[in-house]
Amino acid sequence: MSPDSHPSGCLFLVATPIGNLGDLSPRASETLKDCDFIACEDTRISAKLLNHLKIQKKLISYREENEKTKCVELATQIEAGQKIALLSDAGYPCISDPGFRLVRECHKKNLKVIPIPGPNAALTALAASGLPTHQFTYLGFLPKKSAQVMKILETWKEYDGSVILYESKYKIEKTLSTIMQVMGQERFICLARELTKSHESIFTGTVQEVAKRQASRSGKGEFTLVIAPSGYSFS
Ligand code: SAM
Repeated sequence: MSPDSHPSGCLFLVATPIGNLGDLSPRASETLKDCDFIACEDTRISAKLLNHLKIQKKLISYREENEKTKCVELATQIEAGQKIALLSDAGYPCISDPGFRLVRECHKKNLKVIPIPGPNAALTALAASGLPTHQFTYLGFLPKKSAQVMKILETWKEYDGSVILYESKYKIEKTLSTIMQVMGQERFICLARELTKSHESIFTGTVQEVAKRQASRSGKGEFTLVIAPSGYSFS
């Protein structure tokens, strides 16, 4: 459905590339062209995408720090007839990114929410991992404190599905070592790094093998981890 077929206000949740700009869908591009304005996390990052698409559109900052108040304001504008596209810096809005509060506010006011699906790091990593996909859980970013991380990993240690995590370059080695400590060095995991980018690397092996490989590389990049189900062997 094109934005023009929605005469009254609505919120478009527009997925954007996690690296490769070619992954932006024609529907996403059309929506960005046709909406009234764009609410986005970092206006500088979204401006780059819009420049690439040769689209000129007003950008409003909607980020973790202001989302509680901004979501009410944006929903009021949608109620008044505005068509707003929500973008995160990369991937799907709302998934470890701001958006949930605005979507909830729209539902409360009975306003139309239209998802424009596309790239997402978690599902891309899971599909490429070679690990079971019949059942999985998404934990997003683990907390900073080691004790909390260990507690969460203990909770999922015996889970019969794959576990997806996001991790930063600053903590990746520490997290691999904690997984080894809690789940054992033979646990299979996939480390998906820089998905869809020129230095993409997707490596599945025991956590010991993955940690060794990671230690020999530069720590740069964006990382998604997939932990295999309990008792899973890659053979
Ligand atoms: N909303 C986004 C999505 O749908 O994927 C996720 C946003 S979250 C703030 C960003 C995290 O996603 C990064 O720190 C990294 O863990 C993961 N990520 C994003 N892009 C990635 C990529 N190209 N390769 C691997 N992981 C990526």
